[in-house]
Amino acid sequence: MNNNNLVKGWEVIIGLEVHAQISTKSKLFSSSPTEFGADPNEHVSFYDAAMPGMLPVLNTYAVDQAIKTGIAINGTVNKISRFDRKNYFYPDLPSGYQITQMFFPIITGGYIDIILQDGSNKRLNIHHIHMEQDAGKSVHDMSPCYSYIDLNRAGIPLMEIVSEPDMRSSYEAVQYVKSLRNILKYIGACDCNMEKGNLRVDANISIHKPNTPFGNRAEIKNINSTKFLGDALDYEIQRQIMETEAGNKIRQETRLFDAHTGETRTMRSKEDADEYRYFPDPDLKPLILEQSRIAKIKSELPELPDAKKKRYINDYKLTDFDASILVEDKVVADYYEKAVNASKTPNESAKLIANWILGELF
Ligand code: ADP
Ligand code: MG
Repeated sequence: MNNNNLVKGWEVIIGLEVHAQISTKSKLFSSSPTEFGADPNEHVSFYDAAMPGMLPVLNTYAVDQAIKTGIAINGTVNKISRFDRKNYFYPDLPSGYQITQMFFPIITGGYIDIILQDGSNKRLNIHHIHMEQDAGKSVHDMSPCYSYIDLNRAGIPLMEIVSEPDMRSSYEAVQYVKSLRNILKYIGACDCNMEKGNLRVDANISIHKPNTPFGNRAEIKNINSTKFLGDALDYEIQRQIMETEAGNKIRQETRLFDAHTGETRTMRSKEDADEYRYFPDPDLKPLILEQSRIAKIKSELPELPDAKKKRYINDYKLTDFDASILVEDKVVADYYEKAVNASKTPNESAKLIANWILGELF
């Protein structure tokens, strides 16, 4: 991973779109279970299979999780948002459109603070969060002559968390995803199990010379681990520099990361938004949120990792490094505090207990 601001005189620009599966029992617009690991097509209602005449019913619990996430990342919860249809043809999308929020997302703005390698803070801004349905899955490797479709995932609620192009290195991008993951786990909005695909990242990356307009970006799709994210970005930075310095243009395109070779390769040239023929979903009313609902969710929010860390540093005199590790996992932080509070001399023991957890126990 690289944390230099310039690579061979080039400035790297990165913006991430993180798809987080919202932790719910049922899908976004139907009552089918979201449970992982069922046999193919076990969790498919008539609605999920897009049978004619089936109507969506919005999952209010999923909406609450998106509100909670918006508050946790310091964004604005919009009292009015709306669902739109994104039209495209693909075998794992039986309705021919995905319901998403193109024009009026539920959350706008917000930010995440990360710590750089020199210990300083950097604020990375979030553009918006919208809610949408996941698609089904095409299975190509079960038969030499057929592809199969599994619709268990079709309609599972997702939040897409779209950052501003504020990251300047693969290191910053990885720290952003780690911080975001911690927050989502703390508030229980997403399990963030990247192996199960609960958190997937699309990484947008371009290079340019400082003080000139941004270059064309490549979008690397569906990265499912923070290590792969760092590797894919590092590869892509080198590729874009080599291409540009050889006099070739970087095309705006979608690329895939191959974890076996550590390379990215072209998947398709990128569509423009108007090719999806977005329009408001006529089966769904605008989503209108009462202030009291937002306030209630806000009052129930647990202490977030950053606040907890600051408290450990102030009250328990821990180092930034130790505090960061303790708060990373809520289970560990809860355990730590329980142990400190059980001590007869909490303030004196706090440091000792931290050392013991970070050393012996780990
Ligand atoms: P799209 O709708 O095509 O995905 P957006 O404008 O919504 O495009 O941007 C998607 C992501 O790409 C955002 O996270 C944004 O920060 C990032 N991005 C935009 N322009 C650039 C660029 N030139 N280089 C790197 N990332 C970019
Ligand atoms: Mg996008």
